[in-house]
Amino acid sequence: MAYVFGPVPSRRLGLSLGVDLTPRKTCTYDCLYCQVGRTTQITAEPNPLVPVKEVIHELEQKLRHVTPDFVTISGSGEPTLHSQIDEIIAYVKRRKKFRVAVLTNGSLFWREEVVERVLGADMIMPTCSTVFEETYKAIHRPHPGITLDLLISGLKSLRRAFRGQLFLEVMLLRGFNESEREIVALKSVIEDIGPDRVQLNTVVRPPSDSRALALDRKTLEDIKKCFGAAGEIIAERQRKPRKQRFDTLFAQILEMAKRRPVRAADVVNALGVPLGQVKSLLKTLEEGGSLRSRGHGNDTYYIA
Ligand code: SF4
Repeated sequence: MAYVFGPVPSRRLGLSLGVDLTPRKTCTYDCLYCQVGRTTQITAEPNPLVPVKEVIHELEQKLRHVTPDFVTISGSGEPTLHSQIDEIIAYVKRRKKFRVAVLTNGSLFWREEVVERVLGADMIMPTCSTVFEETYKAIHRPHPGITLDLLISGLKSLRRAFRGQLFLEVMLLRGFNESEREIVALKSVIEDIGPDRVQLNTVVRPPSDSRALALDRKTLEDIKKCFGAAGEIIAERQRKPRKQRFDTLFAQILEMAKRRPVRAADVVNALGVPLGQVKSLLKTLEEGGSLRSRGHGNDTYYIA
């Protein structure tokens, strides 16, 4: 399948069936912490990037066999760059009655038509990590046509129009945006935006740039206190393994690893296969050259 992947375990969404609406690394940003790699096509202009008919056909096939907690529109670039994202959301809601989440960097909501296209989703998860232009540019390396002011005004417009759940991600990088000055100013702007939750994240998977370093748990906990009841640290969530029908375990693991680096535990949670067997499958794939492993923090990640 070219556009639908998983289901994969998600820290925020449970079992998530992913829909990738962009060619690899077509994005409005080129974030230091991106787990997919450097942006190859930076743009701020929405287009019909991939054929909607084919995406819907793949969804139809996949949803016959799996029952995800969410159909998540995300992938290997910025999904709101697809000018027909509304048709995908409408299809899932109309035909399958699944919940839809849009995982977005939030950088295009200053465009009215982009807000209108996502209003059918159940949950939108944009990112706002700083309210200082220089920090914004350093972390996200945005398209020249996108500024921090546009990002913030777009998020406010989205909040006014969107009736579903708005979970705002704050991506924290050591040495970039964890200072008191950053957090105090960010908190004030986030209160104006008014998300349902503020989700604190840090660099948990191998980043595209080695300058992107994770915050330690203690610093995350201290920052969380500043955001009160709405703040939470996105923690790894362990799920009970579910049995699903998959074409082959090898193909499923490769499919997961093509989208983002995965750990053995991720595969266990997604495929419902014992850890010992997963380790043996990963070893076979690595020895055969289909996967390579890379250490990050205390974990080993596998990359296709
Ligand atoms: S992290 Fe998301 S927004 Fe940033 S470059 Fe990667 S795909 Fe784009």
